[in-house]
Amino acid sequence: MSILVVGSVAFDSVETPFGRVDNVLGGSATYFSTSASFFTDVNLVAVVGEDFPQEHVDFLSSRNIDLQGLAREKGKTFHWQGRYGYDLNEAQTLATHLNVFETFKPRIPATYGGADYLFLANIDPDLQMEVLNQVERPRIIACDTMNYWISSKPEALKRVIERVDIFIINEGEARQLSGEANLVKAARKLLDLGVKTLIVKRGEYGVLMFNRASVFAAPAYPLEEVFDPTGAGDTFAGGFMGYLANTGDTSDEGIRQAIIFGSVMASFNVEDFSLNRLKSLGYEEIEARYRSFKAMTHFQGLPEATTAL
Ligand code: AMP
Repeated sequence: MSILVVGSVAFDSVETPFGRVDNVLGGSATYFSTSASFFTDVNLVAVVGEDFPQEHVDFLSSRNIDLQGLAREKGKTFHWQGRYGYDLNEAQTLATHLNVFETFKPRIPATYGGADYLFLANIDPDLQMEVLNQVERPRIIACDTMNYWISSKPEALKRVIERVDIFIINEGEARQLSGEANLVKAARKLLDLGVKTLIVKRGEYGVLMFNRASVFAAPAYPLEEVFDPTGAGDTFAGGFMGYLANTGDTSDEGIRQAIIFGSVMASFNVEDFSLNRLKSLGYEEIEARYRSFKAMTHFQGLPEATTAL
């Protein structure tokens, strides 16, 4: 089944302790779609400016991402400038130039039809709401956001969250939005907003999933070289939603497998700047890393009869 995603398509300028890049391809919807495209068909809704090169359009098309919903408007493409220190878990935003996103009105092409899976990637919550209002109730709606929108539009964001099934957010943002320092308490407050499943991304410490019935913890894949964490969250979400849309299995077990696929995709993405690693990635590498994830997290249950040590 296909996924509809709305989010940013961007130029990023990023500095990490290992190098810097200027005006490279980025954006929440770009990372999400590329990652999800390894598992399922993706329909993209976003906007770029007149400066967006054909080379990037060709790359997205080569991943079979449907671009009928990618508008091209007068003006400049969204530009994000960020920096990471040695703690690669937290990005410092140096500048956000919304550019063509300031006046963007998302329009869902008729050919995208009733999407079964909808991902509201990190973007202005008012635009996320406009998309929600244009689609028939999808089977699964998931959503991401970031501190920029939590600070500037908290009420609009809460109205969006009330309507989603799965909320994917990073650790600092979960604390910021809930006003709770403790993650378990923060999770309870966010579930109280009406979300069925909450996924908290914790960078190199992995992912926690909370719902009313259970908690699931997945580590991050231990990598020797982490080059650039930009897009890790969106790449996680793309692998996660892509796998759900591929199998249609939204049981607790299916969601746990999807979380591991998401973690696998994010682990590849951080190995290089921009989308460079996803560009060279093959599906067999994804399966191989899934298997080593499984081996890495396996442990035996308690023996039948236990005796106190
Ligand atoms: P992440 O997966 O959280 O690392 O997302 C990084 C991507 O989010 C970058 O490629 C940016 O272009 C994009 N981004 C940064 N700030 C914003 C924002 N305020 N709205 C939408 N997208 C953003």
